[in-house]
Amino acid sequence: MADGKSILVDVSRCTGCRGCQVACKQWNGLPGTRTKQTGTYQNPPDFSHQTFKVVRFEDGRTKEGKTYWHFFSDMCRHCMNPPCLAGAQGDEMIHDDATGAVVYTEGTSKSDFEMSLSVCPYNIPRQDPDTKVMRKCTMCFDRITSGLTPACVLSCPTGAMVFGERDAMLAEARRRVDILKKTWPRAQALNADDVRVIFIVTDDPLKYHKYAAGV
Ligand code: SF4
Ligand code: SF4
Repeated sequence: MADGKSILVDVSRCTGCRGCQVACKQWNGLPGTRTKQTGTYQNPPDFSHQTFKVVRFEDGRTKEGKTYWHFFSDMCRHCMNPPCLAGAQGDEMIHDDATGAVVYTEGTSKSDFEMSLSVCPYNIPRQDPDTKVMRKCTMCFDRITSGLTPACVLSCPTGAMVFGERDAMLAEARRRVDILKKTWPRAQALNADDVRVIFIVTDDPLKYHKYAAGV
């Protein structure tokens, strides 16, 4: 496979505006979902077959008593060697050679959903309860194969999300982490060698989300 593409998600620049979440819904023609207020600003509470991008909100207090917010614009990592493809029998799941995108097709209605979910380190795939088709982010496959930027990246007003050639994104991740470490010693790029969607965090990954660094 060629080096392909990557997305960088630098949460140190994320303001939790949810522009990426809305852009994902718009481009993919996905409806909003009715939710209940549970005491968090995060909405909706999780992925679904109609939600491929979720900005997670976690707040807490430092040892000094200061309030902090951690935003985590969660999505499929488009793994370099995707465990979720292990059970694929035919072309129901595609690992695109040129871009590296992992794309599920309508054929996943015949896939073993529970198995795919259980082997995904990031708890990503969801299943349409009516059609049984498995759904998740496609890296905006239709856009990137037309030379366009993924909708979520295009919408990001702060530069938290960047899309490009994998080598360039890895170099940019290293550059940003080197700078961030001067202020936040725990700054790191999560599993950068294993995934195409590379998250940069500045704190313990578990403070952002249970599956932030995979399981
Ligand atoms: Fe598959 Fe999960 Fe990796 Fe996405 S993050 S490619 S769903 S194993
Ligand atoms: Fe964060 Fe950018 Fe998404 Fe806004 S659009 S929530 S700043 S990643």
